[in-house]
Amino acid sequence: MYDVLVIGSANADLTVRVSRRPAPGETVPGTDLTESAGGKGANQAAAAARLGARTALLARVGDDAYGRLLLDAQRAAGTELRHVLVEPGARTGTAMIVVGPDGDNTIVVSPGANARLSPADVAAAREAVAGSAVVSLQWEVPPETVRAAARAAHEAGSRVVLNPSPVPRELDPELLAAADPLVVNEHEARQLAQASGGTPAQWAHALRERGARSVVVTLGPEGALVLGAEDAEPVAVPGIEVTAVDTTGAGDAFTGALAARLAAGDDVAEAARFAVRVGAASVTKPGAQPSYPTAAELQRAPG
Ligand code: ATP
Repeated sequence: MYDVLVIGSANADLTVRVSRRPAPGETVPGTDLTESAGGKGANQAAAAARLGARTALLARVGDDAYGRLLLDAQRAAGTELRHVLVEPGARTGTAMIVVGPDGDNTIVVSPGANARLSPADVAAAREAVAGSAVVSLQWEVPPETVRAAARAAHEAGSRVVLNPSPVPRELDPELLAAADPLVVNEHEARQLAQASGGTPAQWAHALRERGARSVVVTLGPEGALVLGAEDAEPVAVPGIEVTAVDTTGAGDAFTGALAARLAAGDDVAEAARFAVRVGAASVTKPGAQPSYPTAAELQRAPG
């Protein structure tokens, strides 16, 4: 049915850039506000769809201007929208993003309609879950919905890509056991491995020992570390040197691209090599979804 079904959040990204971050209690001037399509689920769907994967999104938005902005962006990316539920009277999720002088960002998310994406919504889409090569999940919708989706996908034999972000305190064994791979950045890897020190390879080993079938740790400009199934040794995928303009949504570009390549039959290390190129391309342009490359644009990008 689909190469990739993303079950997750859709947010309007309200972004302002600053030359200096405010300290607590301080006010600093910023640039004009920009409004663009974001949210981890919607971003990952847009990334996969723009690269040419047959992609669908199961998400909830409100029937407001931001909801329409999100639907237009998914349409432009080529995502199948029949599973996006437009909720009368609800507010679309919103992320308030401040981009600092070095391109890094801090974000506050107001969940809005994302908070009502439910296990019943997953059950209603069970045919799509069972008919998708890869089901991609994140952590901006209720945990019980993520659990229901992981269980349904796992039971149907669909591959689960699990990106537990924003990071929960811990992941239960059933969720970890469904993840193939678990995709985490360094901060998430360390926290979920419950380590105070150590290396990405050590955290990845700890997470695989606790049940994840495979683990990918993204390392920003340094690329990614891949720990494949069973007794595979870690593989370092080097980063690609680019001038970072805005890193918003780089992790989602990576994860969407990874899901697309896994659906196409790549192993996890091959898929991560491709995803590192997509992540690097995404940081060279402002915004999340607007910065994601098509397959043709990726061919012209560095790396
Ligand atoms: P974010 O929260 O900003 O979306 P993240 O913390 O989830 O990102 P990162 O590890 O920072 O994820 O980045 C994901 C991928 O994007 C990296 O593996 C890499 O391919 C690419 N990337 C991110 N930052 C840079 C950079 N400065 N230069 C080159 N590539 C980058």
